[in-house]
Amino acid sequence: MVAAPADGEDRATEAALRPKDLDGFIGQERVREQLDLVLRAARQRSATADHVLLSGAPGLGKTTLAMIIAAEMEAPLRITSGPAIQHPGELAAVLASLTGGEVLFLDEIHRMSRPAEEMLYLAMEDFRVDIVVGTGLEATAMSLELPPFTLVGATTRAGLLVPPLRDRFGFTAHMEFYEPAELERVIHRSARLLGVEIEPAGATEIAGRSRGTPRISNRLLRRVRDYAQVTADGVVTREIAAAALGVYEVDCRGLDRLDRAVLNALLKLFGGGPVGLATLAVAVGEERDTVEEVAEPFLVREGLLARTPRGRVATPAAWAHLGLAPPPEPSW
Ligand code: ADP
Repeated sequence: MVAAPADGEDRATEAALRPKDLDGFIGQERVREQLDLVLRAARQRSATADHVLLSGAPGLGKTTLAMIIAAEMEAPLRITSGPAIQHPGELAAVLASLTGGEVLFLDEIHRMSRPAEEMLYLAMEDFRVDIVVGTGLEATAMSLELPPFTLVGATTRAGLLVPPLRDRFGFTAHMEFYEPAELERVIHRSARLLGVEIEPAGATEIAGRSRGTPRISNRLLRRVRDYAQVTADGVVTREIAAAALGVYEVDCRGLDRLDRAVLNALLKLFGGGPVGLATLAVAVGEERDTVEEVAEPFLVREGLLARTPRGRVATPAAWAHLGLAPPPEPSW
């Protein structure tokens, strides 16, 4: 149960659960306070807000914040992503169709192609794009003026961006994982919106297994709701939450199937490591990026896995968590 966006019904509920303004956005106090200042100052000057870079793991609220920025600025929002823009022409088309003050949300901005990225520098700084019209001897360079716009870039790691791009954002915010108490508030809020009756201990149980991520809290809540509805009277108690999450293979520390697959492979196939990321990803049948960006940050944070120059290694806590005896000599 990874933090990737959901499909079908899940996607529809995810959209319905998004807070619509900064006041409804739970946690991330510092980011919220700083962003509030940036937006209020821009509104007072009747200007377009500075470009904003949001970095943080999937599911922490980057898209939600982009929507809030547009709503607070009373501006339309355009959504696209780095992988969708591989050719500078595609970016030029998006930029040329923006209206004044519009907010452009560029998710996974670190995955844009280099030539598109270079076009973006100029657009961000001078609100201009240089395009080449025609081919061969007929080719002429044209400079196209753009209306002022606010770029909201999102990335899982700001360090993946080249400095010239990173430096062109007026405001950069790093989103932290959420505290369990904050996730409990997210869960209570979502339960209210979904019309689910939940006891405080039920919310605590779900929050503790949510890996610090609101998207996961919301998704676990939906699965627990199903279980409560089918097997009991619909009320989410601590026992119901724990039993439901057992069925969905989310353990007491929040490890899901993927996390346990990674740890199992590391311990049982590679004796605790060190092993390279690519090999580990093949062993669990997942994309390298999924292992690196979804499972690993959580396992590292939980003190179950360490990244070393020689590869990934399991910590003693990982052996203990899976109920296995570590090898007599530490392997690292
Ligand atoms: P990201 O873009 O970082 O992957 P999203 O903005 O799509 O994350 O958030 C995923 C889900 O988590 C959304 O449906 C939203 O309802 C919920 N969510 C995220 N952050 C918060 C928050 N601070 N308060 C309440 N709900 C949140």
